[in-house]
Amino acid sequence: MKIILLGPPGSGKGTQAKLIMKEYNIPQISTGDLLRAAISEKTQLGLEAEKFMNTGKLVPDNLVLQLLEVRINENDCINGFILDGYPRNLAQAQDLQKITNIDLVINIKVDYNILIERICGRRTCKQCGAIYHIKYSPPKERGVCDQCSGLLFQRDDDRKDIVKKRIKTYEQETKPLIEFYQQHEVLTTLTSDGTINEMYKKISSLLATRFYLKE
Ligand code: AMP
Repeated sequence: MKIILLGPPGSGKGTQAKLIMKEYNIPQISTGDLLRAAISEKTQLGLEAEKFMNTGKLVPDNLVLQLLEVRINENDCINGFILDGYPRNLAQAQDLQKITNIDLVINIKVDYNILIERICGRRTCKQCGAIYHIKYSPPKERGVCDQCSGLLFQRDDDRKDIVKKRIKTYEQETKPLIEFYQQHEVLTTLTSDGTINEMYKKISSLLATRFYLKE
């Protein structure tokens, strides 16, 4: 089960990937998370990547590929994985073809205004990484994580000016991937216009059909 989730920032890729991971026991691989980990570990690669991430730009392909290749060869990827945030452009899709094959690409479609509201209201726990939304899934106590009492903060790349850039970058660089994977006959588009659970139902019924699983 080697799956790619495609969709603009705020489309809920990460959330859906976590649900798939839990049900099917395959890891979610988020290149954004791999990069943020490299930045907080202050590795050479992390320091280089930080300059691009802080301005809402894509990190150079070769840096991301290095991190990804190591990750997909780890033991927990033996039955597959869910890629979240990779590939982001055609060159990355071609890089990926050289290191593995992909069974299914799920393209998540979302309205622009919904995206802005979803991302700018997002808050992340400094300590455990749990994600909240000030309107849709607020913590019990404002600014404090329900799970570990860590402080919640707004990621730099969730600020409105940066978000707009990220969406623009997505439109320019990532949309051609839809055509690429359509040609490879592995792409399915699903519209996200309801709750997280409603979207997950659409995804799990697609997975059941595609991988001949019992629903
Ligand atoms: P994300 O957490 O997926 O929204 O990614 C946050 C930021 O990390 C992006 O705005 C990019 O700067 C960088 N990033 C994540 N994945 C990639 C990728 N596949 N290629 C290039 N940059 C990436």
